[in-house]
Amino acid sequence: MDWNGFAGNVLYVDLSAGELESRPLSRDLCEQYIGGLGGCIRLAYENITPGTEPLAPENPVIIGAGPLVGTSVPASSRVYGMTRLPQSRSVGWCGAGGVNFGAFMKYAGFDFLVITGKSDRPVYLDITGDAPVIRDAGSLWGMGVEDACRALWEKHGRPAGVLGIGQAGENQAAYAMAFVDRLSTMGRGGFGAVMGAKNLKAVIARGMNGITVADRKAYKKLTKDLFENIRNYPYLKEWQDLGLMKSLPIISKEEYSEAKVRRMACVSCPIGDKDIIRVSGLIATSSSAMNLYVPTIFGMKDHKEAVTLMTMLDGFAMDMFEFFAAVGFAGDLAVAGIISSDEATPPIDLTKFESMKIWAEKTAYRQGLGDLIARGLDAILERCGPEAAPYLPYKVKGMMPYAGPKAPLPWNLFGTMELGQILDPRGPHVGSGGSPTYFAQRPLEVFPKHLKRMGVPDDALDRILPGWREGAPTDLNIGRLLKYSHRWFTILGSLGVCARAQINRFYNYDLCSDLYQAVTGIPAQGSDLGDRADAAWALLKIINMREGFGRKDEEPPAKWFEEPPFCNYLTGKPITPGEVGVMIREYYAEQGWNPETGAPAMPAD
Ligand code: SF4
Repeated sequence: MDWNGFAGNVLYVDLSAGELESRPLSRDLCEQYIGGLGGCIRLAYENITPGTEPLAPENPVIIGAGPLVGTSVPASSRVYGMTRLPQSRSVGWCGAGGVNFGAFMKYAGFDFLVITGKSDRPVYLDITGDAPVIRDAGSLWGMGVEDACRALWEKHGRPAGVLGIGQAGENQAAYAMAFVDRLSTMGRGGFGAVMGAKNLKAVIARGMNGITVADRKAYKKLTKDLFENIRNYPYLKEWQDLGLMKSLPIISKEEYSEAKVRRMACVSCPIGDKDIIRVSGLIATSSSAMNLYVPTIFGMKDHKEAVTLMTMLDGFAMDMFEFFAAVGFAGDLAVAGIISSDEATPPIDLTKFESMKIWAEKTAYRQGLGDLIARGLDAILERCGPEAAPYLPYKVKGMMPYAGPKAPLPWNLFGTMELGQILDPRGPHVGSGGSPTYFAQRPLEVFPKHLKRMGVPDDALDRILPGWREGAPTDLNIGRLLKYSHRWFTILGSLGVCARAQINRFYNYDLCSDLYQAVTGIPAQGSDLGDRADAAWALLKIINMREGFGRKDEEPPAKWFEEPPFCNYLTGKPITPGEVGVMIREYYAEQGWNPETGAPAMPAD
């Protein structure tokens, strides 16, 4: 079959048997679920047997890149993964700015990888030659992400895309992540631990095939117009200069400018927000300089020490927010005498570099109390019993929702990203809940143009923004709006477009439909793309309901309502559990799911 936009193959790898098999990509999967994120969800539905333990060999690691990945469409580099995650125990999407990896995986002939089994020794998957090969990774095992990535580049040459894990993944810490090209984080909730449980250190990909497009003339015009639109954006230079520091200024612009060595970008991204910085002689790379200063949120004053600690955590490939939540929880329990001071030696102090350095190592290598910390919030609570509960940070599905009045991202207004932390089936993540509520207390009059860009139909706008037709909206329905955040996120992710605010502002629903059709040749007009994205998101929910998740798991944490509480996006007044309950029902209703249980209808096949 001739393919446009897709490479046309899925690589199935059984690490237990050491077998690899390339199978043709299903045309139905592409037509019904778009590709990329949607395709990964469909493959998870087919390949994850309900009840599979996250770290069992049978749990597949599924990796996919959408039909625009590998084309010249701006910022179309996004890579997605799916697996059953050890920390949340949910089946969750994991996304990353794919740098080179997604494009090279497709150029090598594969839209998706489905990796099952467990090797009897450390290995990596090599997709750089004529045929994929499983290779010995004995010399890479024990290396941090950066060193392992560089060793693979040295052996196989550059350019090549590398998806790899650090020591935290090797030791199956519950919140170990994977990194793409040593820069982009992938997989809150333990994607890296699942790779580690398979003895899979990395995947390296490079191919030369390129990607064909169905309607070259339409594709060229759409892409040219899009680049022109980006070039004419008045704040382009500011975004190029500051990246995420523009919207989340964790340090001053002056300090950032002084530290910045250079910016890096995913392939085809005209903005770029990956950073190399220098702080007092220390060179550090990151998916964003903002991440490198996260320890300052927890009270670490010295910026060089903060960056050094983050470089360690990134090397181990350990989720910073979950690490700080778990180690902070253990530290509070030690102060309260619930964990003995013998165990908690040296004392856990999030403000002190020497303490955190040791606890980061103990956690990544699972030593002493570090073993418990590496298992996450639920494990600590289970071992320490009910008397530990008052010290527990916010928690949803075993993980810390990282946006909230007392969370690392101290956002106190309850918009779609905040509600999305309990309604994304994968567990707490703000990534899928984007909408204009990202910015605090925007005037309602500006919402219609943004919502129309996301493809919200007029009849839904009536429910979300009553009064919008008269130009004077009177209310904002966060629950109903969240459905369209999830739809928009799924469209972008399934195409392979970056969802970050500085990129997705240039895309709109009709453009996505036109690009998809021009690139793949698969018809996508009117509600087609939205319907397919909704089907994929509903399937993600169904997969998780198969694992036993339901309405009970979507309760907001009680601490969201304690001082200082989350507040209503419009009025700024504290929200109540009852109001959040109404938002949840409205969300289910807008999705067309059972308004009480949140159960979608099963897919037709
Ligand atoms: S904004 Fe960042 S993550 Fe997104 S495509 Fe550009 S460099 Fe990659």
